[in-house]
Amino acid sequence: NSNGKTKKKYIISTDATYAPFEYEENGKYVGIDIDLLDAIAKLEGFEYELKPMNFKGIIPALQAGQIDGAIAGMSITDERKKVLDMSEGYYESGLALVVKEGNNTIKSLEDLKGKTFAVKKGTAGAKFAEDNKEKLGVTIKYFDNTPSMFQEVKNGNADATLEDYPVIAYMIKVDPNSGLQIAGEKLTKNYYGFAVKKGQNKELLDAFNRGLKKLKENGEYDRIIAKYIKK
Ligand code: GLN
Repeated sequence: NSNGKTKKKYIISTDATYAPFEYEENGKYVGIDIDLLDAIAKLEGFEYELKPMNFKGIIPALQAGQIDGAIAGMSITDERKKVLDMSEGYYESGLALVVKEGNNTIKSLEDLKGKTFAVKKGTAGAKFAEDNKEKLGVTIKYFDNTPSMFQEVKNGNADATLEDYPVIAYMIKVDPNSGLQIAGEKLTKNYYGFAVKKGQNKELLDAFNRGLKKLKENGEYDRIIAKYIKK
């Protein structure tokens, strides 16, 4: 660049199939997380290489130092904060119960007794299902990604799934053939954060927080959200 300094380059992981936060379009990764990261990198003067992977691989890869950071619709939780440092929350989320379109027998968690739940490995949704397994009397089936989990419910091989509200709401909106519907009210509330290994990469975490603040102040944050989530 102009002052002759080489910019620092970070390897940043993301979920591979998680619209509207990250997904592939015409061979390129796009979405809210990707646009935020890109805008922050430009403002803060760093470069990055994206490494999309299954969500379950992301936290272990951070812990092993194979990647420097992650932006993957990752909910900030106390459990994760034991092994990760996470940024300020950048988007409000939370779980919703998802069933096959036209299934009006499951309206809430109470209707799940004896039913099968499809969940994505390593997610807050999987944790919720595991924590409530006995109480709800459900069987849990694990999947590597959101599309395969949704397919299982659509095919009738699982009765329900848990997915982040903005993700399922987006899917139903953009795909009239999604074959899915939301059952009942949002179940939890949390915020997405950018993550680095605990005690490592403070420089990157600080840059993310500083950049995010600037994007919120200059209107770019709102513009990015509006590009993907139409009111
Ligand atoms: N927000 C959820 C979590 O953090 C799901 C993230 C994802 O599937 N990419 O566990």
